[in-house]
Amino acid sequence: MMVMKPSQNVSLADYSTMGLGGSAAYLVAVNTRQEVLEAFNWAAQHQVPALMIGGGSNIVWRDEGYQGLVIVNKLLGYEVSDQADCQVLVKVGAGETWDKVVERTVQAGLTGIEALSLIPGSAGATPVQNVGAYGQEIVNTLDTIEAFDAQAADFVTLKVSECGFAYRTSRFKTTDHGRFYITSLSLRLTKANPQPPYYGSVQQYFEEHKITEVTPAALREAVIYIRSHKLPDPAKTHNTGSFFGNPIISAGELIQLRSKYPDLPAWPLDGGSAKIPAAWLIEQAGFKDAHDPDTGMATWPTQALVLVNETAKTTADLLVFKQKIVGAVHDKFGITLVQEPELLP
Ligand code: NAP
Repeated sequence: MMVMKPSQNVSLADYSTMGLGGSAAYLVAVNTRQEVLEAFNWAAQHQVPALMIGGGSNIVWRDEGYQGLVIVNKLLGYEVSDQADCQVLVKVGAGETWDKVVERTVQAGLTGIEALSLIPGSAGATPVQNVGAYGQEIVNTLDTIEAFDAQAADFVTLKVSECGFAYRTSRFKTTDHGRFYITSLSLRLTKANPQPPYYGSVQQYFEEHKITEVTPAALREAVIYIRSHKLPDPAKTHNTGSFFGNPIISAGELIQLRSKYPDLPAWPLDGGSAKIPAAWLIEQAGFKDAHDPDTGMATWPTQALVLVNETAKTTADLLVFKQKIVGAVHDKFGITLVQEPELLP
């Protein structure tokens, strides 16, 4: 057994695509389940707290940093097993780059996650907020999740029904926050073509490109085209994707708001509630292509939901800018936007 030697006093700005935050007292990368155990044991022996991260694309570090051990999940793996009825189970390590996983499944002609193309970050992060895009959600293809259960100090296998999934959320970010550290996912994919209806922007792409047979590869291509024209690349521009969730309001609230704002876009949900595009609210509140000299923060010109760090120095700057947006949207619409990326620790 190797003796674990975490690095000390590591800048956490390098472990968030927002590029902000203080330092970690200790940081170590883990490549195997055994190393996961060793890392948690190391933290217990040294009497410091521990937390695990993936690609850093959906987290923001506080300026105070972290007086504990940051464990960077690098567990790799990609195993395929054929099942009955054209189904395939693909087991992937949580540290795999998510988009590489999508690319491999699409190359194999499998449907299920191709609409989740180009989502930054690691595979292990996708169940935490039940990542979804263009009509597909990770909950729809997940079979099981393996995780280290810090409460039991052991590895567990969770069925989808045990994960508390809902729109962009799960037990991993709510009731059991900080308890489970995902080490692998099993995805149930199908050898088939994705079925309509497709999202408006995707349908439009197919029409413009005269695509009549929608294969997983064609849907991936459409999503890559749309995303890369609309969203900043976190490798080039500091951002963490959508900074706010799309709010869900009741049928009554929708009627009230529509009486004042007849153009308010809304997507109906089961039970009469409605999902409102947060980007529309942010633009209407005066933050379309906004550049804030006080904080060095901005909204992305083609997608106001994405906050961009242009010249910000601290997470405090980001949070001041965030609060300006939250306040303006609340003043105008009475809706409180909720931050999507996790503020750590
Ligand atoms: P968009 O396509 O402009 O859509 C804005 C909102 O309208 C979203 O809430 C979306 O719902 C909803 N919508 C659009 N077409 C719909 C349809 N045919 N049926 C039901 N609802 C529909 O959104 P965008 O901001 O550019 O993002 C594109 C996609 O990426 C969206 O699906 C968005 O949710 C997703 N995304 C996800 C994450 C994440 O998981 N953290 C982050 C960024 C973007 P849905 O949200 O239910 O799709």
